[in-house]
Order: sequence, then structure tokens, then C-alpha cells
Amino acid sequence: MKTGRILTGIRPTGPLHLGHYVGALENWVKLQDEYDCFFLIADYQALGDHLDEVARIRRSVIEVALDWLAVGLDPERSTFVIQSYVPEHAELALLLSMVTPYSWVARNPTLKAEIDELAARRTGRPVPPEQVENFIAGELSTVSLGFFNYPVSQAADILLPKADLVPVGEDQRPHIEMTREIARRFNRLFRETFPEPEALVGRVPRLVGTDGQAKMSKSLDNAIYLGDDEVTVTARVMRMYTDPTRIHATDPGHVEGNPVFMYHDAFNANKEEVEELKARYVVGKVGDVEVKKRLGRALNAFLDPIRERRARYAANPDLVKDALLSGTARAKKVAEETMRQVRDAMGISGYTG
Ligand code: ATP
Ligand code: MG
Repeated sequence: MKTGRILTGIRPTGPLHLGHYVGALENWVKLQDEYDCFFLIADYQALGDHLDEVARIRRSVIEVALDWLAVGLDPERSTFVIQSYVPEHAELALLLSMVTPYSWVARNPTLKAEIDELAARRTGRPVPPEQVENFIAGELSTVSLGFFNYPVSQAADILLPKADLVPVGEDQRPHIEMTREIARRFNRLFRETFPEPEALVGRVPRLVGTDGQAKMSKSLDNAIYLGDDEVTVTARVMRMYTDPTRIHATDPGHVEGNPVFMYHDAFNANKEEVEELKARYVVGKVGDVEVKKRLGRALNAFLDPIRERRARYAANPDLVKDALLSGTARAKKVAEETMRQVRDAMGISGYTG
């Protein structure tokens, strides 16, 4: 018996990486028996900052679905949804944007950080911390209105199937909090319609990038992808950022805050090996090269079964399409029912009798 509903999703802006796995996907896989899960490929949302890369979005829809199947999401037990195939997502987003005060969006910390990041990428340089607020204010005039509004459209995605739980990475917490506020406001203004969903953050709330930056991200090119082959993974690991204070292998090193050890902790199934490496690292008895070689091996062992399943589905494109189409058809029915209730509650239906 499934006890509640989940909606969560990903933007089809590129292939999925290790951060998606420990921050979100791992929980999605586990919760499939307990919850009625809706997994959304948010292609409309991706347009907000990728309008110049529509071809990439097109390609990524199938790639994301392949990654999902590869990690063990199961279209027999769960519902895969393409956002743009269910126009009710856009319709509810419009109505909820009427319910949401502008100031709720403008103060959203994740949105602010992302606008800052967009600006830095556009100008090719980081923005000095004391100028960030000004920069954001200036950037607001160049960021699309759709991007600015994406937290509201995401709230609509979650509320449309009346989800109770949203398993996501740490960066999404403010968005889920705002979704709860929007649900509460709608329920108060009109009629009790939406549950207030809870966020569930994964085992590693925010996995660092291979370059030591705070977040592994598609957009920052500091990721190891679930679909990377063995040689690529090894090469990316060997180039990884480690302890900048350490010059010689005989210097005592730092384990805390060291991305290589964070990945060992997150992905190396051999805990004894990890503890032994840490003990040697802090007294300068092991070099970065050995620690990295062992990480490369551990990551490849972790990725092997994922690669195998991915190859199986890649050879059967019809299975992937069927998963997307049958899930989307089911989501469409659920969405139509919610929209009937929403229009009814708001009193914007039946004008002509
Ligand atoms: P983009 O850089 O294009 O925004 P992204 O890598 O942030 O892409 P999203 O599609 O925005 O990917 O995020 C999908 C889900 O994965 C969200 O729940 C997000 O919180 C989670 N996630 C993404 N990156 C990480 C990470 N480095 N650590 C933990 N969770 C992550
Ligand atoms: Mg993101």
C-alpha cells in the first residue's frame, strides 16, 4: 500500500551526475514502493536560462530518462512525466503566480544565488561579494521573466499532483518552503485544495564539484556523470582538487573539506579502506595519487551496474519512449482532475452555464 505521493524532477539541461545521485536520485529509487511517485522532466523550466540551447534540451529529455532507468527508477511502479506534454503544469503556474506576492520570489536565496551565477558566467568573471546585491539588481533586468518565476512554476509542478513529499538536494529547500506558503495561501483564499508538501534532502545534501566549488553542477562543468566511461572517470578524478595546503606526499594532509575524501565517504563501499587512507593521509604517509587511484576504482565499481542497465535501455529506445508516454498519459488525468478542483475553488469556471 502506498501511503502518499511524491513529485520531484530534473531539468533536461544535460546528463545526470554523482551530485544528482546522492542528493536526490538515491532517495527516489528507495521510495518507489512506499510512495506513488511522479518524476518530472521539466523542459519548460529549462527554457528559463537555456533559450539558446533548445537542441540540447531536446536531446536531454531522452538522456535524462535513460539515466533514470539506469539508476533503477521503474516506470512500472512510478510515473515519468514530460512537463510540456501536460499543459496543466503551465496553467497552474499562471494561476499560482496570481496568488504569490512578488516579494516572496524576490527574497528567495537560491534564486538570488543562481542569478548571481548566471551573471558571473555571462561576464566570465566572479562578482566581488560586496557588489553581489547590486549585480543581482542589474542582472534582474536581463534574466528572463520565466527564469525569475521558476520557483512559482515549480510550486505548480509539485501541487498539481498534490504531492506530500519532495525528495531534492539542499539547494531546493527554499523552493519547497515557498511551495508550502503558496499552498497555504491558496487554501485560505479559496478552499482547502492542496496539501503542504515536505522536503526530503538526500544523504549528501550538496555534493562538492571536482574543482572544489560548493556544488557539483551541469552548468559549472565540474561534474562526474553517471554515463561517463571508465577512462573519463579516472581522468576526471586524477585532475581533482585536493588539499591546497599540501605540497609533498610526506606533508600531513587535511581530510576535512577535501573533495577527494568527500567522494570516498559518499561512494567507496569499502569503509575500511577509506579509514585506513584517512589515517595515513593526516600523517603524510600516502600521496594524493594513490588516494585518487583508489577513488577512481571505487567510483567505477559504483558506476558499473548503472552503466550496464543504461546500455540495455539505450539498445531499446522503444522501452524508454513507452515509459515516458504511458507515465505522461497517467499524469495528464491526475492534472485535469486537480485543475477542475482549482477552477471550481477559485470560481472561474462555468461562466456560460
Ligand atoms: P543546473 O546547473 O542546470 O541547474 P543542476 O545540476 O543543479 O543543473 P537540477 O536539474 O537543477 O540540476 O537539479 C536536480 C536535482 O538534483 C535537485 O533536487 C537538486 O537539488 C539536485 N542536485 C543537483 N546538484 C546537486 C549536488 N551537487 N548535490 C546534491 N544535490 C544536487
Ligand atoms: Mg539547478
